[in-house]
Amino acid sequence: MNLNGDEYRRLSFWHDSVPGSLEPAAALDGDTEADVAIVGAGLTGMWTAYYLTMANPELRVVLCEREIAGFGASGRNGGWCSALFPASLPKLERMAGRESAIAMYRAMQQTVDEVGKVAADEDIDCHWAKGGTVQFARSPAQLERATEEVHEARLYGFDDSDLRLLSAAEAQEISGMSNVLGGVFTPHCAAIHPARLARGLAEVLRAKGVLIYEKTEVQRIKPGQLLTATGIVRARHVIRATEGYTAQLAGHQRTVVPVYSLVVATAPLPDAVLEQVGLATRPTFNDLRHMIIYGQRTADGRLVFGGRGAPYHYGSTIQPSHDRVPAVFAALRKTLTELFPALQDVVITHTWGGPIGIARDWCASVGLDRRTGIGWAGGYVGDGLSTTNLAGRTLAHLITGTDSELTRLPWVGHQSPRWAPEPFRWLGVNTGLRVMTWADRSEARTGRSSRAAAAVSSFLRS
Ligand SMILES: Cc1cc2nc3c(=O)[nH]c(=O)nc-3n(C[C@H](O)[C@H](O)[C@H](O)COP(=O)(O)OP(=O)(O)OC[C@H]3O[C@@H](n4cnc5c(N)ncnc54)[C@H](O)[C@@H]3O)c2cc1C
Repeated sequence: MNLNGDEYRRLSFWHDSVPGSLEPAAALDGDTEADVAIVGAGLTGMWTAYYLTMANPELRVVLCEREIAGFGASGRNGGWCSALFPASLPKLERMAGRESAIAMYRAMQQTVDEVGKVAADEDIDCHWAKGGTVQFARSPAQLERATEEVHEARLYGFDDSDLRLLSAAEAQEISGMSNVLGGVFTPHCAAIHPARLARGLAEVLRAKGVLIYEKTEVQRIKPGQLLTATGIVRARHVIRATEGYTAQLAGHQRTVVPVYSLVVATAPLPDAVLEQVGLATRPTFNDLRHMIIYGQRTADGRLVFGGRGAPYHYGSTIQPSHDRVPAVFAALRKTLTELFPALQDVVITHTWGGPIGIARDWCASVGLDRRTGIGWAGGYVGDGLSTTNLAGRTLAHLITGTDSELTRLPWVGHQSPRWAPEPFRWLGVNTGLRVMTWADRSEARTGRSSRAAAAVSSFLRS
């Protein structure tokens, strides 16, 4: 894309409201050498550069970014800096044992605080508000899932301080959402302004001497080399940090599928409406339907509200037009007003979307092939905002040869199977998405949980 700073502002509410210029920085101009070369200046790439530089300020770290730093999911997500990890505890236990599964979830909890700490240390004002997450239960079936979720956490030793059931009265005290029967609360989440974090981190990196070449597309990753149209970056270690865009890289068409998540932002809400919405400490929120939805009350009193549900595009294509699907925006608005009837006349000021990356087994991974020097991290599904930080710290340890608790976590070196070729990929992913939508509708009508959705969900993740 050939966008200027003003056009990048239109990517999302977050880009529109981030301080500073979005004019692209200089592109790579000729061959160069580095110790570590990274493809993609999203949070994966930038956290990796950050921790490498903190470990050894002498390291030469270069990032090549096709657009601008924070262009991708990192700049335009829902702003949940959470401890969520896409693979469940039982699945991680099957992969690596019970203690490793627990260690992974604990590491995610600590990661939320690590992001907050670095933001504070580096003066990145990302509107940090650690108000936790409330998952509201709005039907008997959702209440059942709330109970199951807490029960599963208890089996692994997570107690009330990690996750607890809310009574109807407790949940209703937090928010004026409609039909609330109860919920689940975890304190391990902060609501943030993601573009402020991503752009702020890019500035911090530049001040530390990291080179971020923008408007520089990597055409091919080879051991020791990133090939671009304007030069080659040679480095002992090269890192793929392209998440939802990975399928566009040669040899990676079936590594992760890009599935679109779409978002709307309201105008700042009048005080009387905010009073009814509640969420005063800015907990992030959703309800326990199958098709993921997510929301946050922003620092300036808006609601930012998103969800999956846009179709997967044949051949894993990624295009600006996929970011904007009027029918999905209309459905998000409808859902928002069902949740909060006080928003009936609300003005939606921004609509946007972007691709998340899903691995075939729904398990994020990070790793470094010592033989080739090629590293990667991704497959976060929609839980990458904090996970990228854990990935960056881990990659820094792997690259510097530091043996640590992080490098022993079960996602390190995990190889997800490849997705099926087309047309099976298209059929499989879209069937799954349809069944979830259908199951939620049926549940909303009957109040009973859907076995079909549970079966599809477990098939997709198996
Ligand atoms: C709408 C939406 C809502 C989300 N909400 C949340 C949330 O609330 N909480 C949460 O935890 N997660 C959320 N996520 C997921 C989260 O944002 C991502 O998992 C995370 O930001 C991924 O970071 P990344 O750096 O790996 O990828 P990205 O931020 O996507 O960065 C990849 C970068 O690589 C660049 N690139 C790609 N190909 C090339 C190439 N060939 N050459 C050079 N550069 C290239 C891209 O331009 C991009 O800037 C959401 C995602 C979306 C899209």
